[in-house]
Amino acid sequence: MTNWTLAARAAKMNSSAIREILKLTDRPGIISMAGGLPSPAAFPIPAFTAACNTVMERDGAAALQYSTTEGFPELRQAIADFLPWDVNPEQVLITTGSQQALDLIGKVFLDKDSRMLVEKPTYLGALQAFTPMEPVAVGVDSDDEGMLVEDFAAKAGTGADKARMAYVLPNFQNPTGRTMSEARRQALVEKAKELDIPLIEDNPYGDLWYEQEPPLPLAARNPEGVIYMGSFSKVLAPGLRVGFIVAPKSVYGKLTQAKQAADLHSPSFNQRVVAEVMKHDFLKNHIPTIRAMYKAQRDVMLMALESEMEGLDVRWTRPVGGMFLWVRLPQGMNAQDLLPEAVERGMAFVPGAPFFAGEPETNTLRLSYVTVSPEQIRKGIAALAAAIRAQLAK
Ligand code: PMP
Repeated sequence: MTNWTLAARAAKMNSSAIREILKLTDRPGIISMAGGLPSPAAFPIPAFTAACNTVMERDGAAALQYSTTEGFPELRQAIADFLPWDVNPEQVLITTGSQQALDLIGKVFLDKDSRMLVEKPTYLGALQAFTPMEPVAVGVDSDDEGMLVEDFAAKAGTGADKARMAYVLPNFQNPTGRTMSEARRQALVEKAKELDIPLIEDNPYGDLWYEQEPPLPLAARNPEGVIYMGSFSKVLAPGLRVGFIVAPKSVYGKLTQAKQAADLHSPSFNQRVVAEVMKHDFLKNHIPTIRAMYKAQRDVMLMALESEMEGLDVRWTRPVGGMFLWVRLPQGMNAQDLLPEAVERGMAFVPGAPFFAGEPETNTLRLSYVTVSPEQIRKGIAALAAAIRAQLAK
């Protein structure tokens, strides 16, 4: 037995509540709508095979060598070209997944007890990434269009307690699937500018729209006031661990220094493979196939909810892109208590509580519709409805 003293921050670190739940629910036979994984049917394996061969044969030594912290120049250029506003490739920092971007941003912006603003609810992985810096995460009231600007201003704090940053997911949010409207985006950007609070815009799902492209990112409206994060996890493959930050000059250097200290650079080989795959407008052709797949899945889930939840006081979001849908159970029903009932009937979801920075709304849950077949969706939603009815009868 050792008697080691760990850092105070280690006590605050915890394994994602979702991962703990997945351990219980990833059993054979369970229809899991709990995970946050993209559909493997969308991974472009032949394109990757070809790109891996090209990179090895053409640039093998460079692909296996150390490289710069900022990232592979061709990839930074391809990202700048792909984004829908005027981005200088020198503002692009390649990260090891956008999860690393969250860690770097936390390190650069947050001290112990720093105030930071998040949506209600927000991405659990971001709360996890920021927690070791020991900030005070304050949830801003949010509706179907995202953060309420009045509450953002009311919770912004002043003087030494002014919020260091506000973390927002404007497109097809994880966990709710909701999207910020044009008007809300503009109002939030203007208020953040007025209060001089940096917006941290996380956009891993933005390209996965179904019918209509979402309004322009926040960063496009005020590039000096927004730190933008993107990822190849949902449009190519998450195992690559390639994401990126687009940062204003004022903080780009600090973020790069933080990255250098963390891992020197993201894998040279992976960066080159992504740059190779992106050539010849590959994403412009590939992404529509993912959109079509996910839209069809969403339609099946919405139809199943309509018919199975008939007569129950249950509401849900109607996402126009992304991978997730958010369900509100009858008042007073706790999703955590419902989970064993659902698992017993063959399906699993993620309870909503861990996605809240402050007081949780315990009657909420998240469903993913992208890794389950239409038949499984119908069966799984029927099982969920049966579990809710059983819970109400208790
Ligand atoms: N942000 C959000 C909102 C996410 O949902 C995820 C993945 N679940 C990430 C960031 C991290 O993604 P990655 O590190 O794979 O880019």
